Formats: sequence, structure tokens, C-alpha cells
Amino acid sequence: MKNDCIFCAIAAGEIPSFKVYEDDVVVAYLDINPVSEGHTLVIPKKHTEGLLDTPDETLAAVVARVKLVAAHLKKVLPCDGFNIAQNNGEVAGQTVKHVHFHIVPRYKGDDPLVFKGAKGDMERLAALAARLAMPR
Ligand code: 5GP
Ligand code: ZN
Repeated sequence: MKNDCIFCAIAAGEIPSFKVYEDDVVVAYLDINPVSEGHTLVIPKKHTEGLLDTPDETLAAVVARVKLVAAHLKKVLPCDGFNIAQNNGEVAGQTVKHVHFHIVPRYKGDDPLVFKGAKGDMERLAALAARLAMPR
């Protein structure tokens, strides 16, 4: 393995994967620990660690492939919807440091991936929004 990255090794065909789609930019393959039937990972072939160090052009191309593969999964599988997940940093659950998008098909009766929020305090939200507001 060139750089110790398991997803680079999969992209290079050095270790096997259950491939769903491949072109010059991405490879998509089944997750070995599927959250649901058809759980698929889409990765750029070129190594970057996460969203923030991946060039915009690469991200645009990868997201277009995420859409393509998700549409295909939805056509072939009897799923009723899907989640897209993209984790950045260990604290966010990222275990493989090669940027990747999860496509998790969802079926009626599933327990979906949801963020369990609690009602926000309006004053705190207003103060936070003022602090975070970005110039265009
Ligand atoms: P993360 O937690 O970093 O967002 O997701 C990494 C995903 O990669 C996990 O869902 C894990 O099951 C999957 N994974 C880790 N190693 C391999 C592997 O060698 N092959 C495949 N197909 N999936 C892997
Ligand atoms: Zn890599």
C-alpha cells in the first residue's frame, strides 16, 4: 500500500471491494459494515482527507456521482429513500481518513440516521447567528 490508506488501495484495485460504479474520478463500492442493504461509499480516486482539503472541482464531480449512484440504488433496490452522510474528524465519526460519502438506502420501518436535537434557546441562537454570519 502506497500511503497506508485503505481507500487508496481499494481505488487502485490493490485490495478487493464489491464495486458498484467506477469512472476516471470516483469509485463506489459496498460498505463492509452496512448500516442497511445497499450501503455504498463513494470516494474520489485521488486522496484527500476530508471535505475541507478536497478541491471544489473534485467535490462537484464526486457529488454528481453520489447522485448518479443513489438514483441507481433507488431504482434497483426496494428502498423508499436514502441518507447521505459525510463525516469529518474522529469526533464526527470519521474512521477512514480518505474523504468519502455514504449512501444509506432506507426502507419503511427503518430507524433513520437523524440528528437528535432539542429545542434551541432563541437568544442564544440569535447571538450565535450574529457571531457566525459570513460575508458573501
Ligand atoms: P467513516 O466512519 O470514516 O465515515 O466511514 C468509514 C466506512 O468505511 C465505515 O462504514 C466502514 O465500515 C467502511 N470500511 C472500512 N474499511 C473498509 C474496507 O476495507 N472496505 C469497505 N468496503 N469498507 C470499509
Ligand atoms: Zn486515500
